[in-house]
Amino acid sequence: MMQVYKCFKLFGLYFYISSIRMKRRRPIDEKMRNQRKVLHKRKMLLYRKNGGCCEFCGKPFAPSALEIHHIIGVTENPGLALVASNMALLCHECHAEVHRKPSPPHASEQEQSPSRECGS
Ligand SMILES: [Zn+2]
Ligand SMILES: [Zn+2]
Repeated sequence: MMQVYKCFKLFGLYFYISSIRMKRRRPIDEKMRNQRKVLHKRKMLLYRKNGGCCEFCGKPFAPSALEIHHIIGVTENPGLALVASNMALLCHECHAEVHRKPSPPHASEQEQSPSRECGS
């Protein structure tokens, strides 16, 4: 019960921080911005859906550590970049772990150090 409460508290804090950041950010390319916005929405949706916990290890984590893994790599199928069902919400450790493993079903993502939004 405490854990869930903690997650929600962090969640609120994250929104506060990101709203400050949003105001500061310079307008970049409109299309890029929209895509980022959609991606961010998807992320937060997943984050809320999972109660702020990693899908892999089940541990709660701060939104700042939130990482999205694309089950089917974006390089493989760019059309799935924003599809929620193609996203897995992972903590940093698990995301690194997923990419470290040599032969998962979709092994075409070759990056050794995954970026925050993997595959993008
Ligand atoms: Zn994890
Ligand atoms: Zn990934």
